[in-house]
Amino acid sequence: MLLEKYEQEVIETARQMLRCGLVTATWGNVSVRPGTEEILVITPSGMDYAGLGHADMVALDFSGRVLKGERKPSSEYRLHCKIYRERPDVLAIVHTHSVFASAFAAARTPIPVITEELAQINGGPVKVADYHLPGTPELAQSCTRALGSRSAVLLANHGLVGTAPTLAEALKVCQIVEKTAQITLYAKGLGAFQELSAKDTARIRDYYLKAYGQRGGGP
Ligand SMILES: [Zn+2]
Repeated sequence: MLLEKYEQEVIETARQMLRCGLVTATWGNVSVRPGTEEILVITPSGMDYAGLGHADMVALDFSGRVLKGERKPSSEYRLHCKIYRERPDVLAIVHTHSVFASAFAAARTPIPVITEELAQINGGPVKVADYHLPGTPELAQSCTRALGSRSAVLLANHGLVGTAPTLAEALKVCQIVEKTAQITLYAKGLGAFQELSAKDTARIRDYYLKAYGQRGGGP
């Protein structure tokens, strides 16, 4: 399989993640699943995203075996492999350590559905996965369990994982979760916030999937 197109997408998404301020230096990671084969293309471990090239990308099978590339894969490759194994609908994953989402992760508090955008992209609150050391199979397990069938999940005392059918959408998931986390804290500063009801959240999510999901856009 020709992986260059997918490598380029991963490189561009990693750079965008840096530009958007969702990560600093080498933290966070990005992967894509090209097609139906059990293969993923992932960012390498510990490299500055600004200088990434095709030769730095790593292709793995779902057991974490390197199929292509000279670099070590991201230290969170187990988490990526586990999500792809359990969620055939997920074709792209973006993992960030953005500030406001990380504040909720540190407090081990789910991000409530207080924006229609979060209802659209996640269909419910962003849950927090139990704490495990980074890079471990236990973290991959707790992350997948807390993610369930949703798009985003917080890793306790660590960061955020966004999943989607495309990299552009996975990056958008991370941006919307980060923005909602920020708004939640500001709204708390004003006294309180009103969470959308489960019924309205489900309707908004349903409408989004039907009307906009295919285009990866939004109203
Ligand atoms: Zn991380």
